[in-house]
Amino acid sequence: MTYDQLLSPITLGTLTLRNRVVMGSMHTGLEDSARDLTALAAYVAERARGEVGLIVTGGYAPNRRGWLKPFAAELSTRLQAMRHREVTGAVHDEGGAIALQVLHAGRYGYHPFSASASSRKSPITPFRPRALSTKAVDRTATDFAQSVALARKAGYDAVEIMGSEGYLINQFLAARTNDRTDAWGGSAEKRMRFPLEVVRRSRELVGGDFPIVYRISLLDLVEGGQTWDEVVELAHGLEDAGVTVLNTGIGWHEARVPTIITQVPRGAWRSATARLKAAVSVPVCASNRINTPELAEEILAAGEADLVSMARPLLADPDFVAKARAGRADEINTCIACNQACLDHVFQNRKASCLVNPRACRETTLVLAPTRTRRTVAVVGAGPAGLAAAVSAAERGLAVTLFERSTEVGGQFRLAMRVPGKEEFAETLRYFTRRTEVLGVDVRLGSAPTAGDLAPYDEVVVATGVAPRTPVLDGVDHPSVVSYADVLSGAVVPGRRVAVVGAGGIGVDVSHFLSADPADTDADWMAYWGVGDPTLHPGGLMERKPRATVREVTLLQRKTTPIGIGLGKTSGWAHRAVLRQSGVVQLSGVTYDRVDDAGLHVTVDGEPRVLEVDHVVLCAGQESVRDLYDELLAVRPHGTHLIGGADVAAELDAKRAIEQGTRVAAGL
Ligand code: NAP
Ligand code: SF4
Repeated sequence: MTYDQLLSPITLGTLTLRNRVVMGSMHTGLEDSARDLTALAAYVAERARGEVGLIVTGGYAPNRRGWLKPFAAELSTRLQAMRHREVTGAVHDEGGAIALQVLHAGRYGYHPFSASASSRKSPITPFRPRALSTKAVDRTATDFAQSVALARKAGYDAVEIMGSEGYLINQFLAARTNDRTDAWGGSAEKRMRFPLEVVRRSRELVGGDFPIVYRISLLDLVEGGQTWDEVVELAHGLEDAGVTVLNTGIGWHEARVPTIITQVPRGAWRSATARLKAAVSVPVCASNRINTPELAEEILAAGEADLVSMARPLLADPDFVAKARAGRADEINTCIACNQACLDHVFQNRKASCLVNPRACRETTLVLAPTRTRRTVAVVGAGPAGLAAAVSAAERGLAVTLFERSTEVGGQFRLAMRVPGKEEFAETLRYFTRRTEVLGVDVRLGSAPTAGDLAPYDEVVVATGVAPRTPVLDGVDHPSVVSYADVLSGAVVPGRRVAVVGAGGIGVDVSHFLSADPADTDADWMAYWGVGDPTLHPGGLMERKPRATVREVTLLQRKTTPIGIGLGKTSGWAHRAVLRQSGVVQLSGVTYDRVDDAGLHVTVDGEPRVLEVDHVVLCAGQESVRDLYDELLAVRPHGTHLIGGADVAAELDAKRAIEQGTRVAAGL
């Protein structure tokens, strides 16, 4: 595929972009301190070198009340603006263009000075905002414009005004959060006044053609969200006020509809973007759950948008565009929409990175330095850890042999990708497999080397992974007892009534796998989450369609804590909701007594119970497989490395495995 549309230039006011790929705004945590500007510059420069058309920074507040958290990124002084020249200069040196996003968090501010259109507290922050006075609203609109002007002084090629995802501007727009009775609230027209003033004043300060992007909320996906007519009226007002481009946003952060995680179908929101494009004359940018150049090209070729915004896909692969242009799209490290190292980190107040690319946001500290020595490296085990180690070592120029006992690479990832909504994990295996081919890694499938076989190698990396734990339980060898690996691999198809023992990430995934209807389509997904036609349902939210019961699943754990609390911050709530919607019965504080022909015998709250089930699926964690490592240590204590689940099985996840594999390769 040649991606003719995606790779064609576009002129936006004073700015001509080399292609239509916008790296959407994503807060990384590097924006918040002047100390991190060098790291931020390296991060964006790498993406500019990878030929991204326009990079948009994380959000910068126009004033203190607009902070995302205490002392978060702000652009309100000349001194701050001058510091940004390191960032803008780094992008320009690579032939790229960069826009600064101005974002006022409003009631999403995680601090006691937060302010909003009203004093209604958000369900996702503990702080009640102060309702801005009439004068303060006016001042805030001016502060936005001043930030925009400062961004231009700092060398930015454009700005983006954040008007979606439920932040302050969105809070003014929706009746849900704006019950004001002054000139900034009440009718739809008055609720729109704030964003229109922000854009008007910004345009006044920066003059004629400086590109102003406005991120408009197409579907609020909350009760009391904007109607479609209001969205279109706002878009027209924004055009008149002087916006150059309308970027699109979907869903407030407090919405109980997932909008970007893996289970959201690719391109789920493109029809809303197409609808906006048909109604306006300025260029429109599509966003959310677009992660391949094929899909981006398809959206542009269909005339549904003029640009495509991808944030996480460019965290995952800074060379996404360059690879697409060079006919190497099959080498793109695709974002799997897991949120585990990007948004989950940011919401835990940690710096963002990427599960599939641990170098993201660590460009200055995690370096895969080229080496001229042709030292030989054996990597044993081709799960995520081993694959990352093999590919990273080969990228450095080392001669790598990768041994894998089974006939396919992938390890636990191969099981994960069978879970409904986790199909994207297959992309990571495609990426690693292709990179081993391109880099000339000698991959030996169906091969389990002994310590003796490995003697000739200069370095040996042991990534032999994990084996499912078999708990000590009376009747564990009963024919009804199976392991999660048997179920996910398809070796066993459980009956209609199933007990799942262990409610960690895999127990939750297996429960979802067992209770999902394999015939579900993307349209069913929308209906289950209550996403409707925005012209008929304000905010695009309608009543949810109930899920059919495919199996009677009971998910059990010994702990007394709520099931699934250890799952990722930005995705766990959606996984838990799917279990509830699917009628999965959840039991905590369970003691397992035995399994026999009658089923699984347990004690809950001191009461013995029998779960009459056809199958008991064990999801009781894993144990490290490290016999080879122990053997190797005895004969070669130096030059032997242990990574991934073989190192620590507890709480193993792919993020740690891939990072550990990459770090070990960087240090060889
Ligand atoms: P896990 O998170 O360690 O959970 C295993 C569960 O089994 C424990 O929560 C434990 O709960 C139970 N268990 C442990 N020993 C047991 C025993 N002897 N008898 C009965 N129950 C026992 O492991 P996992 O679910 O296999 O997941 C492995 C890794 O993959 C985890 O790090 C997980 O985070 C990751 N993962 C993440 C996701 C995700 O969505 N982010 C999805 C899948 C996997 P009790 O002791 O309370 O019974
Ligand atoms: Fe994508 Fe996951 Fe990486 Fe985030 S951590 S950029 S969601 S692959």
